[in-house]
Amino acid sequence: MTTDPDCLFCKIAAGQIPADVIASSEGALAFRDINPKAPTHVLVIPTGHVASLAEVPDDGGAMLAELVALANRVASDEGVGGGYRVVTNIGPDAGQSVGHLHLHVLGGRPMAWPPG
Ligand code: 5GP
Ligand code: ZN
Repeated sequence: MTTDPDCLFCKIAAGQIPADVIASSEGALAFRDINPKAPTHVLVIPTGHVASLAEVPDDGGAMLAELVALANRVASDEGVGGGYRVVTNIGPDAGQSVGHLHLHVLGGRPMAWPPG
């Protein structure tokens, strides 16, 4: 598993920086966003370092499936299964501010489309 010692979310995955962790699986972690944009706003990350969705290797299918499974479980546990959004930003122009792949799981309020 790859770890970047300078990466914020690698540090959270390693327990070096505290986070409000609500769920995990073998290679994935779910924790509450520090600056929530919805009543439910959870980040789902692989515990290994991947910079973004654009950097997923060809053999990353199982890792992605694990992220999706954990995102769906979080939504169900949070009681937003009737409607939620899963989004990942890729690169600064799309709003990515942390360079470690993360799915935003957002729910608990109406969601506009398209997003701003
Ligand atoms: P991005 O902008 O890369 O798509 O999303 C990064 C998210 O990480 C933001 O929503 C931001 O609020 C969140 N975030 C940044 N630093 C921390 C932190 O130290 N702890 C937690 N839990 N969330 C963070
Ligand atoms: Zn990382």
